[in-house]
Amino acid sequence: MGSTVKPKLCLRVCALYQESVARAIRELGYTWVQVEGYTLPCSQPQRQRQPVHGVFRPPPPDGTEVLIIGACSLPPSAAEHAPMLPHQWVRLDHCLAMVTGREIWESETRTGAYLLTPSWLKRWREQLQRWGFDRASARQFFHECARELLLLDTGTDLDALAELEQFAAYVDRPYRVRRISLDYLKLFLAKIVLEWRLSIVEAQTQQMLQPANRKIAEYAMAFDLLVQMSQIQSEEATITAIQNLFAMLFGCTELDYAQIKAGQISQVFSLQGKPEARTALEQALATMPGDYALMERENGFYLRIHSHHEPLGLVAVYNIALPEHRTEYLNLGLAITSLCGLALVNARTYAALQEVEQSLRRERDLTAYLRQTMLDLATELDFDRMARQVLVHLDALIPSQESVLLLLEGETLRVVSVQSSLGQASSVGQFIRADQQPYALVIQRRTPLILGAEALNETSTLNLANSSELRSWMGVPLLKGQQVIGVLTIGSLEAGAYSLEHASITQVVAHEVTLALDNVRLLQAVQTLADTDPLTGLYNRRRFNVLAEAEFRRLQHYGSQHYGGDLAAIFIDIDHFKRVNDTFSHAVGDQVLTHVATCLKQVRTSDIVARYGGEEFVMISPAISPIQVRQIAERLRQTVASTVFTTTSGPIQVTISLGVAIAEPTLTTVEELIWRADQALYSAKCMGRNRVSVWGENNFA
Ligand code: GH3
Ligand code: MG
Ligand code: MG
Repeated sequence: MGSTVKPKLCLRVCALYQESVARAIRELGYTWVQVEGYTLPCSQPQRQRQPVHGVFRPPPPDGTEVLIIGACSLPPSAAEHAPMLPHQWVRLDHCLAMVTGREIWESETRTGAYLLTPSWLKRWREQLQRWGFDRASARQFFHECARELLLLDTGTDLDALAELEQFAAYVDRPYRVRRISLDYLKLFLAKIVLEWRLSIVEAQTQQMLQPANRKIAEYAMAFDLLVQMSQIQSEEATITAIQNLFAMLFGCTELDYAQIKAGQISQVFSLQGKPEARTALEQALATMPGDYALMERENGFYLRIHSHHEPLGLVAVYNIALPEHRTEYLNLGLAITSLCGLALVNARTYAALQEVEQSLRRERDLTAYLRQTMLDLATELDFDRMARQVLVHLDALIPSQESVLLLLEGETLRVVSVQSSLGQASSVGQFIRADQQPYALVIQRRTPLILGAEALNETSTLNLANSSELRSWMGVPLLKGQQVIGVLTIGSLEAGAYSLEHASITQVVAHEVTLALDNVRLLQAVQTLADTDPLTGLYNRRRFNVLAEAEFRRLQHYGSQHYGGDLAAIFIDIDHFKRVNDTFSHAVGDQVLTHVATCLKQVRTSDIVARYGGEEFVMISPAISPIQVRQIAERLRQTVASTVFTTTSGPIQVTISLGVAIAEPTLTTVEELIWRADQALYSAKCMGRNRVSVWGENNFA
């Protein structure tokens, strides 16, 4: 309030008191108060209509306010018609009351004194004339209304006493003088003036408080927002809150927020602002010496928000409501930027935590899937089925329209499994040259390769059946150590479908495929070893029994009509084989055994040939007629008999005897069938060897 300019005041008083009032004001030291006089016919005996001078004159044009004191002869309504406003009116019963105080004025009047002031006395002749009195009527008037004349002498006029004597002589009345100090008047005026001052100050205070109160309410809201900001969990929502906060605090509607990541502006958020101002923002960020910069032309400024020296954002505030308060706004902005920074860091940390949590969850899901996959794969001995399962699992992990598993075989990639929802899918068994793109790159780099829509368009040589449809593609190598053994690919109709994270998931799956592939191969090798006779490469007796049993069950299940023919068994034994061993050696005997086995392999793929033991072989022929089986047996006999086997001891020729049996409905086990074939063989031996004998013919019961 100290800086408030003192308003000027004009006291308008009855001209009869003007001098006293002016003196009192002077003595009070109120240099900013001036005193004017007005003329009213107050103390006139008959109140005739007379012009009122100076009461409602307009106030001086310099903003001085007018306070009218007295004007007791005017009705209160007079002010309503007054041409000047605003004015204030201190009404009194009589103007004298302000000089003497009410008590003196009342008591002296009651005792019949006619109260006179020095100012009035100064012009007593003029007054009487104006009242229309001559000496006689004046005497009559004062005789009637006054016992004595009383001069209330304020000491303002030194001639007052002389005038009183003359006037008293003129109207023929006794007189008295009562000294009145100006103290009362001074108190009276001081009270009025100070009250007026107070009212002015109150009004000013009110005026100043109004916007201040509004501002306080706004700040309260702003700080509420600031507190709430720390609860917000996403950075974008925090940015919106910061924008609203600044807009409210600075009373601006144009505001840009530049999000900063790794020291660079990553995105501009505009609050009815200028998103095209990115260049200006970048320039400001690069050239700002501290945490703020003033805008040259606009009534605005830049504020940098950071946390632990890491810049997080740049706020551009344009056209603030009160440009003259720019510095205060700036300071306020600087004061809250660290809180904003904290809220932004919180939001970023929260997002990062969520990201980690999500990726952990994904990893857990992935692990669960892979465990399931491995479980499936471990029990799966068939590679094709295993490969199909891999693609099903991969599809569950990463959405795709096509996934393909290819194995590298020399210079080519063989499609071993396809999972596709597309019309033109790649097909199993298809060969692709390994030096064609994009496969060549995957194989050469031994890292995942992700292709977007553009790259796919350019890769015209892309060896995918539906390269024109796919808009995202990823190829991941199957690595066995440093060696690429295949490629796993996925494709999507959606652009930008694959990320580095997808690549690492696919890599994990690819790794599992490699392991599973090894497992299957190993299992197959072990299986082969367990099922195969190492010398001849034929099935061993154990495996033969299983397969023969399965075939017999099949026959029983379908019945011979739907089985496609009969089931036959052929038992084979080398004639006089002991002699070969004895003549040459056991090793040469082994060579002969191998040669005979090779001859026996020349049968239909459905026929199952095995080394039964020693120099004995056995064969099961499904879906065959008796004539056909006899022909096969005969052909085998002739082949062996006519072939000269080359051995380390020179050429050797041997013969074989064969026993054939056809399954009949009465048979209940496959062992019976084989036993019959063995019996037929025995018969062939008995009949001279190097021949075919059929069960049920030639003396068999
Ligand atoms: P037959 O015409 O009656 O069948 O006369 P054979 O000599 O072939 O029959 P025999 O059962 O008397 O002899 C079978 C011989 O086969 C005895 C054994 O030395 C030989 N042999 C069995 N297993 C092997 C083998 O794995 N390697 C070699 N070299 N000889 C074997
Ligand atoms: Mg034998
Ligand atoms: Mg033999």
